[in-house]
Amino acid sequence: MSAKVTGGCHCGEVRYECTEAPLKAGHCQCENCQKFSGTGHASNVMLLKEAFSSTGEVSTYEYQAESGNTMARAFCPKCGTPVYGTSSGNEAVVMVRAGGMDDPTLFDPAFVLFTTKGQDWDTVDENIPSFPGMPG
Ligand SMILES: [Zn+2]
Ligand SMILES: [Zn+2]
Repeated sequence: MSAKVTGGCHCGEVRYECTEAPLKAGHCQCENCQKFSGTGHASNVMLLKEAFSSTGEVSTYEYQAESGNTMARAFCPKCGTPVYGTSSGNEAVVMVRAGGMDDPTLFDPAFVLFTTKGQDWDTVDENIPSFPGMPG
């Protein structure tokens, strides 16, 4: 089966592919996503882990989320691009960034999360559903 989603880091050392189409996609304005993106929000794409594979060495940074889940962020040790992330809260999926995909037009955001944390200067699409936090 051919890859539905391919992508990688800026320098090209780390590459990934997923043979299944994205499960979900949306923006997140939480404080962690602000920090990790260096701007107002992250544009995240959820992929099925069993269909996902990557090549190239990554560095991994782990931290504890407010939910208690352990989050792991994999990034390229050479160029620093965030490549994918996982959460102990859902071992079946991995998250990648919209702009890291070879074809960012595949990104089809369906929601905005943590709008209460959003900055006034960070405007997102008002025509898609938004949530003040993480919907239950
Ligand atoms: Zn790189
Ligand atoms: Zn977030």
